[in-house]
Formats: sequence, C-alpha cells, structure tokens
Amino acid sequence: MIGSLSHIFVASLAVLAGLCIYASIHHLWVGWGRPARRVHLLFGILSGVAAAYVLAKLAAYGAENAAELVERRRAVVDFAVLFLGLFAWFVAEYTGEKRRWPLLGLGALSAFLLLANAMLPFGIFFSALPELRHITLPWGETVTDLRMRTTNLWFGAALGLFLSSFVYAGQACVRQYIHGDRQRARSLGLAIVVFFVIALINQVVNFGALKFVHTAEFGFIAMVLLMNWFLSQEMHRDAEKLAASEHRFRSLVDQSPFSIQVLAPDGRTLQVNRAWETLWGISGSALAGYNILQDRQLADKGILSYIKRGFAGESLELPPVIYNPQDTPELPGAPFRDRWVRAYIYPIKDEGGRVGEVILMHEDITERKRTDDAIRNIAEGASVRTGEAFFEALVKQLAALFEADYALVGVLDTHVPGTVNTKAVFAQGKTAENFSYSLDGTPCENVVGQQTCIYPSGVQHLFPDDALLAQLDCEGYIGTPLFDAQGAPIGIVVAMSRVPLGQTEYMRKILEILAARAGAELQRLQAEARIRQIAFRDPLTGLANRASLHETLPALLERARVSGRQCAMLLIDLDHFKTINDALSHHTGDLVLRAVARRLTEVAAKETFAARVGGDEFVLLMPEISGDAASAELQARRLAEAVVVALEKPIVIGDQQFKIDASIGATLFPQGSADEHDVLRHADIALYRAKSQGRGSIQFFSVDMLAKASERLEVERRIRHALANGGLALHLQPQLDKAGRIMGAEALLRCRRPDGSLLLPDALVPVAEESGLIHAIGQWALANACACLKSWESAAHLRDLNLSINVSNWQFVRDDFVAQVGRHLEQSGARASRLTIEITESVLLYDIDDAISKMRALKSMGLRLALDDFGTGFSSLSYLKRLPLDELKIDRSFIQTLDVHTPDVFIESIIAIGHAMGMSIVAEGVESEAQHSVLAKMGCDGFQGYLWSRPLPEDGFAEYMSASAMS
Ligand code: C2E
Ligand code: CA
Ligand code: CA
Repeated sequence: MIGSLSHIFVASLAVLAGLCIYASIHHLWVGWGRPARRVHLLFGILSGVAAAYVLAKLAAYGAENAAELVERRRAVVDFAVLFLGLFAWFVAEYTGEKRRWPLLGLGALSAFLLLANAMLPFGIFFSALPELRHITLPWGETVTDLRMRTTNLWFGAALGLFLSSFVYAGQACVRQYIHGDRQRARSLGLAIVVFFVIALINQVVNFGALKFVHTAEFGFIAMVLLMNWFLSQEMHRDAEKLAASEHRFRSLVDQSPFSIQVLAPDGRTLQVNRAWETLWGISGSALAGYNILQDRQLADKGILSYIKRGFAGESLELPPVIYNPQDTPELPGAPFRDRWVRAYIYPIKDEGGRVGEVILMHEDITERKRTDDAIRNIAEGASVRTGEAFFEALVKQLAALFEADYALVGVLDTHVPGTVNTKAVFAQGKTAENFSYSLDGTPCENVVGQQTCIYPSGVQHLFPDDALLAQLDCEGYIGTPLFDAQGAPIGIVVAMSRVPLGQTEYMRKILEILAARAGAELQRLQAEARIRQIAFRDPLTGLANRASLHETLPALLERARVSGRQCAMLLIDLDHFKTINDALSHHTGDLVLRAVARRLTEVAAKETFAARVGGDEFVLLMPEISGDAASAELQARRLAEAVVVALEKPIVIGDQQFKIDASIGATLFPQGSADEHDVLRHADIALYRAKSQGRGSIQFFSVDMLAKASERLEVERRIRHALANGGLALHLQPQLDKAGRIMGAEALLRCRRPDGSLLLPDALVPVAEESGLIHAIGQWALANACACLKSWESAAHLRDLNLSINVSNWQFVRDDFVAQVGRHLEQSGARASRLTIEITESVLLYDIDDAISKMRALKSMGLRLALDDFGTGFSSLSYLKRLPLDELKIDRSFIQTLDVHTPDVFIESIIAIGHAMGMSIVAEGVESEAQHSVLAKMGCDGFQGYLWSRPLPEDGFAEYMSASAMS
C-alpha cells in the first residue's frame, strides 16, 4: 500500500502542473482569438509560468546532490519572481485598476531579482551550498529538500516583492469591490486569499517552524486553478449573454414589419426577414447566388453607388426606386413584382470600427406613390380640363387606377327624385353613352348623400334587384357621394369591376379625392349654367334673349355655309303693343308677352330657335331648312303665316281679351348675307316694309329693299345735318275764314337739300320718328313757331294772326311735352292764345286719359287745340265730346274726293257734331273754288289749300300778307 503511494506527491504535482499547462493553453487560445482579450492572454502566460514553476520544483525535489539542487532551485526562484510580477499585472488587467508607477516598480524589482538570481553563484537564497535534507512524507514518500533559514538581503527583497504584489492585488480587488464588478472582486479575492495563506504556510516551513516540504507551489496552483475556474465561468456567462442577444437580434429582424436584408461585407445576403419575403415574393434561400454589389438593375437605376457607400460605413437613405426582382437574372424564378421602395442602409461595426454586417431596410411605397401620382394626375388633369372633358378624363383615370371595368360620374336628377343621370361613363376601355338609372335597389342607394361604400366582391348577390350589376356581371363595387359646398348631395362617383377588388383602402382615398374635385367641378358647371341662363335667357318669357341670338346666329350661319342649306330668320313685331302696355298695366303687358312667347313656341318646330330681342320684338330662327332657296322661303312663309294666325286668336287675361297683330320681316340666309349683322339688318328692313304695309303683314327681304333702306339712311343723315347746320325751315300756309279773311297759318316743316330742293315731311317725318330725331325736330319747330309769333306782334297786319303747329304722336306722348310747350312760350314771350297745336287721332290710341289730361293742361295755358286729319283714324265721333278741342281739320282726302254736285253726308255730320261741341271746322287741301263754295255752304268755318296759297317761306308769307291787305 505504502509502496503504491511512494510517488504520489510528485505525481500529483505533475498532474497539477498539467492542469496549469491546460489552463495556460486554453487562455492563450482565447486571448489570441478575435477579438483579442488581454486578460486571458496574461492569464495564459501566468498559468504557463505557474506550470513551469511547478515543474522546476518537481525537478528540485528529485535532485541528487546539493549543487544540482541549487541550480534547480535557481530556476524555481526565476519562475516565482516572474509569477509575482505577472500576477500584479494580471490583477491590474482583470480589475481594470491599472496603476502605472507601482506596476513599473514591481516590474523593476522583479527584473532586479531575476538578474541577481542569475548572477549570484548559489542564487539569491543561498550564500553557500545548502545542506540537503530528505523528508519522508506521511505516506512514506521521500523527497529531497533543504534547510533554508536564510535571512539575507536578497531574501528580504524577494519577500518585499511577494508582499507588495499581494498588497497591490489586494487593494485592486477591494477597489473593484467598491466601484466595479463585485462578483469578479469576490472571485479574485478568494483566489488571492488562498494563494496568500498557502504562501504564508510556505514561509512557516521556510523558517523551520513546520517540518514539511515547501508548499509554495500549491499556492500558485490553487490560484491558477481558481482563477481558471472563475474566468471559464465568466466566459460561459458571456457566451450565453451573446447568444441571447443574438437571438433577440434575429427575432427583432425577423418580426420587423419593415423588410430587412442583412448583408455580409462582401455583398452576399446573410438573412432576410419575413416582411422581405412577402414584399418580393422570394424566399431568403433563393438569394444564394445573389450579390447585391453586382446587381445590374440597381446599378442601372443609379442606386448601387448609394449601397456601396453603406458598405463603406455610411448610414444613409436611398432615393425611391422601382424594382422588379424578375428583371434580375441572379434571382431565378422570381415573380413579377414592380414595387416602389424606399430603402435605408446602415452598417453594423465592431469595436474596432470595422464594418461587420450591412443592414438594408426597405419600405414598400408603391401605394403611396400611386396615390401621389393619382393626386398629381388629378391636379394636373384638373388644371387643363373643365366641363364635360373633365368628367370624361376622370372616369377614364378612375378605371385605369382601379383596373376597373366600369367607372361613372352621375348627377342626381333634380326633377325626378331617386334618378341619376350619368355625366360620363367609361366601360371596358372606352368612353360610353350616358344613361339614366333609378337608385332603387342599387348599391348607389347607400352611397348617395351618405358615405363611401365598398363591396369588394359578390355585389351582384348583395343587390339582386340591380339589373345593371347583373348585366355588366360585376363582382366588386366602390362608390362615393358627391356633395355641393352646402353639403347637399348632388351625385355619385362609382367604379365597378368584374373581378373582386383589392387594395380597397387605397381606392377609398383616391376616390374620395376625385369625388371632392368632381363635386367642385359639378358645382362650377351648375353655376356656369345658371349664369348662362341669366345671361342668355329672357327672364320674362323664358325664351332666349338678344345676347343668345348673337351667340347662336354666327354659329348657325357658319354651319349653313358648310352644309349649303338655307336658314330663315323671322323678325316679329307686335303692332300697338305699347298701347296695351300703357293703357292697361305693365303686368298685363307682361302676361301678353308671355302668352305670345308660348304661342310662338307652339307653332315653331322643336329645332327652331325662339328669342325675345326687344320689348315687343321676337325672332324665330329656322335652321338649315333646305338647299333650295324657293322651298326654304315657302316653308319660312308658312311658319310666318302660322305665327300671324296663332297670335290673332284672342289672348284672355283676367276678364280682358286681346287680339294681337304682328308684322313679320323675314330673310333667308346665308344667301346674300356676309355676316350675322347682315342677317339682322335684312330682317329689320323687311320688317320695316311689313309695318309700313299695315297690320299683320309679312315681308320677305329682297335686294331692292336695300336701296330703300339706304335712302332712309340718307334721309336720316340729311336731317342730322340740317338740324346741326340750320337747314330746317317752317313754311307757312295761310288759313282763311268764311269771309275770306286770313286768320292765320299752318307751319309746315321743310328741310333743304344741298342742291336747294326741299325734303318734304312725308319722307322726313317717318324717318325722324323711327330714329328718334323727331324730338329734336319738334323742339326746333316749337321754338321757331314761337319766335315767328313773337315777331308778328310788331307788325300790325300780322299781330292778330294765329299759328298752327303739327305735333307728332311721339312728341305728344312724352311726359314733358306740356312743360316743353310752356317753356318755349315763356322763352319767346309769344302769346299762347295765338298758338294752335295740331294732333292726330292716333295719339288717342296710346293712352286716351293721358292725352286728355295733357290737352287740358295745354288749354289751361291758353293754347288752342286742333284735331288734324280727322276722319282717317278710327273715326269714332263718340269720344270727341271728351276732348277739349277748339278745331277739327277735315282731312285732305275727303276734300279731294268730294263730289261738288251732291251733298256729302259724312262731312255734313262732322260739321254738325263739331259745331254742336263748340268747335270750328277747317277744311284743308282746298284746291278749287267749287270745293270752297260747297264746303262753305255746308258750314265750314275755315279754309286752307292751294286755291289760296302753297306753303310759303316766312318772308314770302309776310309779303303775301301785305299783298292781301292791300287788295
Ligand atoms: P298735314 O298736317 O295734313 O299738312 C297739310 C299738308 O297738305 C301739307 O303737306 C300741305 O303742303 C298739303 N297741302 C296743303 N294744301 C294742299 C292742297 O290744296 N292740295 C294738296 N295736294 N296738298 C295740300 P306737307 O307740308 O307735305 O306735310 C305733310 C304732313 O307732314 C302734314 O300733314 C303733317 O302731318 C306733317 N308735318 C308737316 N310739318 C310738320 C311738323 O313741323 N311737325 C310734324 N310732326 N309733322 C309735320
Ligand atoms: Ca296739319
Ligand atoms: Ca292734315
């Protein structure tokens, strides 16, 4: 038993040395690795030195003689000194408590001791060969040792190194316990204490207090093994921590909603996450042959340079790019997937700042991009298109964006509730006809006035009553309501598809934006239509107005020129409408005009354009009647006749009945018309002619009318010129009483032509009336008549004469007529009693009450009043008694047709009634003595005519008066 144990001490020391060697190799390995770890490296060296120390000690135990022992002991001391120096350094590294000067001091002391140990003949511990001693261990093993008991200076230095190493280690350990990692401090503390205790025991042996082998090696070994254990534990813990954080990192990547690609510095892909695989439709394993740094698609799109910057260590955002994995040959079998992506690239660097991995994160911005593009499209489209074109573009765009088979914009019918009229329809790739449909039972019923509705699939089954859905075989439906600015529903925008809809959220966004724009456009159109209505409609009759005629006519003219067909314009003027309007009320007048408009539209064909172009003037435009002018004229004439007949039928308003006569001027065009103004002028000329022919007549324009019309223009020019240049004159025709005495004169207007000839009132007055010049002429005549009367006052033979003046109806109906007369009398100072105003019966037609009140006013001013041309008007004697007249003038036509041999009952009764009412009766146009005597016999009071004198210029009249006074 004992024999088997005879080498146990040595053997176990060898085993422990082996353990130290193992620890040394292990930690050197760890220390050298990447990343390098100085603590392990130091510890590896420390363990190696410990192993060397133990082996040296083992060798010493086996020494044969003192000399051999001393040499072997020298090596032991070397390793012990080395160990102590390294120990302090290791502790400094391990705790992080590095103190430069103490460490340098320890290093210097160690070096000094090593040097001394090598130089001294017996090493630092012996001054002479020591005495050997053999120690038999309790189990019978015998080892060679020596008696030490040396207490020389060198020994003191070694002890100093020993103690200062421990002091340094101890304080580092305490500091770490206080300030740093307590677990580390505790582990280290334990190792130091064990080391120190065993080293103390060794000293006790050294001083011979204990009879045993030196135990120093056990201190070294214990310290190495304990620290090896602790360091290994730490390494294990670190590895676990690393594994855990790696796991966290992997799951973070994998579960991220962002697409992540982890790349190796050489460009290969290390990992992709699920979001990445879903985005591109490729599994990560398909990337085996792919290297991002050689991706041609990225290079072509200019993105590779950014990625390379990422690999070079920069963190940056890549510009948005559209990428399709199918276009990259290194990704065989990749599906077609055009995606807009925005990517961020950033490298992960190690402690040394080297790029380890590169992370590429993408975001799929395809939808956002599409939405942005759609919005931009809408914005751009909106700026160039308006009206119908806008809606057409909108539905087309909608169908394209949603890949829908049908798209439409509908407007609620304001007249038929629950009905939608489409504004634009896009069906299967093209613009389609508009139509109307009822909302009942359709998905739109849930949309109109409410909110966006999406039926991604099966919409036909949800709305079995919707025939349209079934007919179009729709699966998916999306609709959004249109509102006006006040929030009232006005329509709907719909897209329908034969396949189920995807990406409905994106659709909703787009549709609502489009709908807002469409709603605004609809409103704009409605506003425009209202403005057009106001601008181009006659509010009273609802017919088109003059502005509208001016817009329609040129277009029609142009069309007719191209087609070569004749059109017709009928210009319709109501006769005596002013009488109705003035005599009754404007309200009645309005009702009559409305009735007329209704009748016009009744007789006109649907395509005939009807307009009210003036107070009582209407236009009918017959578009492109016929290529043959004769047949076009025939049709236009038929319409004109139909109009006359339609208007002749009495119009009943309240308890009153009206019969309307109309004069119609018609013209064909484009024949002979250069432009719209010609057409209007021709119709106007024809109307003028029609009016001059009496009530209810129809005249077609002919070229010879143009000559007449230009004559009229010439006359008008002449009048203007005469008014401005004193070319007007009043000629006086004497009037005689029964006794043949001259009692006065009638002033008759004359206008001198440049050649000296005279323009007579029959040609002049109608033109003046029509052009409004009659007012200026009337004023002129009144002023001159008054001046003439005044001048007569200074001549005895003229002083008692009376002067008659003719007044046009247009003058007389003016509100200020009476005042005008008063003003002229006053300004001239002429006597009112010498002035007679001649009016005609027709003036009574307008407003008889107004006429009477004016006549009374004139009478009260002292004037005389005469009724001119009596018998030609409506010749009703009944009203005569209401009129404050002084004189009746029997019209020239009666005198001329007078049969001088038989009594004229008509003239006799006029004279009788006139006399009965206290009027004097004047016969004008008396040309023969026979006429004179017959009229005188019948009781006429005054006479006027060529028999005595033609109308004479003022000075001629004065001469005539002097001559007659002398005769
Ligand atoms: P009237 O008032 O009936 O005037 C009488 C017309 O008969 C005048 O024509 C006169 O020259 C013409 N006359 C007179 N005696 C005879 C005769 O014995 N035989 C024939 N055949 N004719 C005779 P006149 O001057 O050409 O005037 C035509 C009309 O023009 C006038 O008819 C009157 O209604 C209108 N008139 C004339 N002067 C003025 C005026 O200053 N103002 C307005 N508003 N009308 C005027
Ligand atoms: Ca007259
Ligand atoms: Ca007359």
